[in-house]
Amino acid sequence: MNVLPFQVIQNEPLLRAHGVTIEYPAPQGTVRATHEVSFEVWRGDRFVLLGPSGCGKSTLLKAVGGFIAPRAGSLVLDGKPIHKPGPDRIVVFQEFDQLPPWKTVRQNVMFPLLAGGTSRKEADARARHWLAKVGLGRFEDAYPHTLSGGMKARVAIARALAMQPEILLMDEPFAALDALTRRRMQEELQALWEEARFTMLFVTHSIEEALVVGNRILLLSPHPGRVRAEINSHQFGLHSAGSPEFQTATNRIHHLLFGPEGGAVEHGHANDAGVAAKAVLS
Ligand code: ADP
Ligand code: MG
Repeated sequence: MNVLPFQVIQNEPLLRAHGVTIEYPAPQGTVRATHEVSFEVWRGDRFVLLGPSGCGKSTLLKAVGGFIAPRAGSLVLDGKPIHKPGPDRIVVFQEFDQLPPWKTVRQNVMFPLLAGGTSRKEADARARHWLAKVGLGRFEDAYPHTLSGGMKARVAIARALAMQPEILLMDEPFAALDALTRRRMQEELQALWEEARFTMLFVTHSIEEALVVGNRILLLSPHPGRVRAEINSHQFGLHSAGSPEFQTATNRIHHLLFGPEGGAVEHGHANDAGVAAKAVLS
């Protein structure tokens, strides 16, 4: 786990996306999914990519995952250019039904570890550790079809964290859940982060979810996906949802994403201590 005490000064971001332009082949030439997108994720960040459908969030996440290559620009993780998938970047998708149904919950968590060469003893220990952390200690021997959507989401998160990635990539992981379960999962993710301080890149189209889950939010506009603004949101958590400040922030983001002025761009740079000195919500 990339647990890092806060007093450690970070001189380099963990992930640096610079001028990332991504295109897909299309019948009439190409579709530009993102245009010159730049951002930096520091260790311990809960960095959110937020924007409406089609703004290239999933595309960016897949590029960070190493599944697609940018047409221009660069993606660098821990000083090394990304050009293929690797165990340092684990993706949690919203389709939890990808859990093989013939394996128990613990076997599901152990499977990618064993496939990656981890010993059975170590894989078993890590699976038990993370399943306990996500509150599924009692369900280790259950089969996926017996679990609720929220429980499957927790298995997927435990499986990803057991891999000890440098960065956890989450693409709308809670979008398919009912509202109450979704809220609960946001809460649990927050609690897990408080404990383990992993780094995550989290994709959502929900402004509220972005404010609750993230400490920094990159706002993207669609066709092609471009950076509209970057904001700090560390001051918000589940308990601030509904407060006047939260409402103001929600309105401001809505305005930045959909406001009449169109091209307004607020984009700053993180300082050396890894504290984003960006356009801060006020
Ligand atoms: P988001 O996740 O923000 O909804 P996507 O990254 O899925 O956005 O898509 C960004 C743009 O790229 C959209 O215009 C979408 O239609 C296009 N796109 C995504 N995947 C493909 C693909 N495999 N082939 C062609 N176009 C694609
Ligand atoms: Mg998407």
